[in-house]
Amino acid sequence: MDKKVRVRYAPSPTGYLHIGGARSALFNYLYAKKHKGDFVFRIEDTDVERNIEGAEYSQLHDLLWLNIIPDESIENPNPKYKYYRQMEKLDIYKKYAQQLIDMGAAYECFCSEEDLEKSRLEQEARGITAFKYDRRCLNLTNEEKEELRKKGIKPSIRLKVPDDEVIEFEDLVRGKVTFNSNDFGDFVIMKSNGIPTYNFAVVIDDHIMDITHVFRGEEHLSNTPKQLFIYKYFNWEPPKFGHMTIIVNEKGKKLSKRDNDIVQFVSQYRKMGFLPAAIDNFLLLLGWTPDSSKEIYSLNEMFEIFDEKRLSKSPSMFDNKKLYWMNSQYIKMLDDDKYFEFIKPFLITNEHLKNKDDEFLRKIALIFKSEISYGEEINKFINEIYVRNDLNEDEIKYLKDEKFKILFDEFYKKINSCEQLNFTKETFKPFVNELINLVHLKGKDFYMPLRLALTGYEHGVEMYNILNILGKDEVLNRISEVRSK
Ligand code: GLU
Repeated sequence: MDKKVRVRYAPSPTGYLHIGGARSALFNYLYAKKHKGDFVFRIEDTDVERNIEGAEYSQLHDLLWLNIIPDESIENPNPKYKYYRQMEKLDIYKKYAQQLIDMGAAYECFCSEEDLEKSRLEQEARGITAFKYDRRCLNLTNEEKEELRKKGIKPSIRLKVPDDEVIEFEDLVRGKVTFNSNDFGDFVIMKSNGIPTYNFAVVIDDHIMDITHVFRGEEHLSNTPKQLFIYKYFNWEPPKFGHMTIIVNEKGKKLSKRDNDIVQFVSQYRKMGFLPAAIDNFLLLLGWTPDSSKEIYSLNEMFEIFDEKRLSKSPSMFDNKKLYWMNSQYIKMLDDDKYFEFIKPFLITNEHLKNKDDEFLRKIALIFKSEISYGEEINKFINEIYVRNDLNEDEIKYLKDEKFKILFDEFYKKINSCEQLNFTKETFKPFVNELINLVHLKGKDFYMPLRLALTGYEHGVEMYNILNILGKDEVLNRISEVRSK
């Protein structure tokens, strides 16, 4: 019988949930759901100095926000597989490391940083660029070790990497991958402070937790042979690995924290007013190609169609415009009640809307539903109406044109005769037609001066919406200001 599929997302709490991490998590999750398996969330926190406050919470809760729901996690552990944080199971790693020592597959190393640095320089002088540990501690006698211990030196533990061995595995994304063991030096599996290194801990975790498949970033590809040496010593069956290609920016360079025009953390997207389903959809298409031109997929659809064979083998370009477009599509798909619920938190932070009731907020929200690509953006549109843009000299000159005088006068009169401004597309039409008949201006000559006078912009939302938002008094103020210039 085939083993139950178990995959995992195993972040280090050295940073908040990054889009690259979210993509790894999503693909593991989709693979699990497609195969009716389990998706496990666990924490790799052995890089103690680099761990940061709040990172663990963000890694899990931003994932939950994306509706990527682990079957097991630090908050929802399965007693069979406890523990879900590496620092909680140091004694387990210690036990397995000892087992490797007893088998002759690992050994204690008493070299200090200075010793290693010296050896590195010696190798460099001999033209060797890829440093390999020279195995000087491999054959220490028990007496020698005792001596060193007495001096207070605590050993690390190194894996004895076999010589002349070809390591081969079938990568789920890139096919057959081959490494030669001679390219690897004996690497540290337990540091002298008793904390395991990533390559060791991850093997123990994946084995203990019955992990069957691992999808992770390409940066781990060269770690995989190191992990396979360990599996081999223990005679454990390794999981199947799939290394996803890197994410690049529009210039084709690997995405880095310095790419300021790309927002990189899921919590930032949440705060900006992106919808989780839109991010999931975008991440799906970041390195995975469907077999149709359809672009919008719900998570449920993703469970059905996801196929690891369609994971791309070339770098995935982060198309910022597509992400914003995708989110605008998801915003449009919300029904009006859901949309208002989503957008209201952004509106109530806007100082211009301080004393407005829900009815007004809802009206204003709906005006921009098909304009915005993320929630916070609504305030940009709204502010452009409330805060009139300064007119430049050309615009002022343009508005002074004699032919617009009658337009401003008649427009003023007509607005003044309204009790309040509450136009709809339908009621605004006759209002405009009457004016046009009076002033004999139409098209651009009609709308542009009014728009400029009211907002200071040449483009924007429909005129009747501007009037409704500003209200009668403010509209009259702004028109008289232009008339008096
Ligand atoms: N903690 C590792 C990382 O964040 C996980 C690597 C793995 O999935 O094996 O990159």
